[in-house]
Amino acid sequence: MKRSVYCLECRKTVNADVVERKETFTVRGEAFEVLTHVAICPQCSQDLYDDELDANTQRLVFDQYRQKHGLLSPVEIREVRERYGLSQKAFSRLLGFGEVTIHRYEMGSIQEKAQDLLIRQAADPEFMQRRYEENPGAVSSREKGVFEKRLTDLLQKWKQSVSLPAISFYRNQDIYTGFIEFNLAKIMNMVLFFAKICSECFYPTKANKMLWYADMLHYRLNNRSISGSRYLCHQYGPVPEEFKLLYPLMEKEGLIELEYKEIDPEQGIAGQVIHPKSLWNKTLFTESELNVMKYVAERFKYYSGRQISEESHEEEAYKETPEYGFISYSYAERLRVDLLEIGTKEQYKH
Ligand SMILES: [Zn+2]
Repeated sequence: MKRSVYCLECRKTVNADVVERKETFTVRGEAFEVLTHVAICPQCSQDLYDDELDANTQRLVFDQYRQKHGLLSPVEIREVRERYGLSQKAFSRLLGFGEVTIHRYEMGSIQEKAQDLLIRQAADPEFMQRRYEENPGAVSSREKGVFEKRLTDLLQKWKQSVSLPAISFYRNQDIYTGFIEFNLAKIMNMVLFFAKICSECFYPTKANKMLWYADMLHYRLNNRSISGSRYLCHQYGPVPEEFKLLYPLMEKEGLIELEYKEIDPEQGIAGQVIHPKSLWNKTLFTESELNVMKYVAERFKYYSGRQISEESHEEEAYKETPEYGFISYSYAERLRVDLLEIGTKEQYKH
């Protein structure tokens, strides 16, 4: 590849060679290695300044930083904003940022974790509705019409997608549901949350157990589960009652993608991997629920489906429940997996 670039040394525009080179850059104190493209003067062999190539390099480095820290990309941020038909300024104001903040993020500046969380929450139209009610002046009269229309449409869609008629979940509140009514939106968002943290190693068998541990552990400390799901005693461990419908339904809704893949080539095990396709809705959960979910995510992040199955098989709840029977939340007391391995009890309580 050749480019026409001005060489400061030779004091003229030269037909520069572009070469690939691995270089290390530091962002907020962390080093990142990227493959860069550098223009070189064919006459004096100096590296040349090239705005476009340099901007590309910076983008690559920032992308790596965002990926490592699980931050939204500039394109994802723009997508959230455009759903509402908002200008960068209005979106910034609604989120309580400075007027140019969103503009800077969409141009490539890296957002702080706290700002990232707020933008994620903005994907939930109910959250945006609350923001708008608190601060109606954030949206100019010129933008109001489009924004309010989009918001209404999104709210309607959102409600439909979380109350799908296809699933006939049990609606009682008893010792098998953890004394709350089953909440489909919550269990789906628990899956999305775990999928994001486990990234490439998240399978339905693993998801089933992580959901169970999160619900059980939360019950143990607060006398109620998170999702209100009943769990069955299956061959590979506890599973949510309607697990066979849950993941295909989520795929149909565009929330996840199920990829059929070889999981353990040595043992010839193949199965589905769950990839998140949507942002999760944090606002559905209380702080104690979030803390328990975070704990379960960290605890089992690197487990294979088999490892977490084996762990769940050691639980009394599993051993004492007959096959295909419902597992009582009363076993939560005697769970082997213990939250107190990390943190204090108060963190997980209301
Ligand atoms: Zn030169």
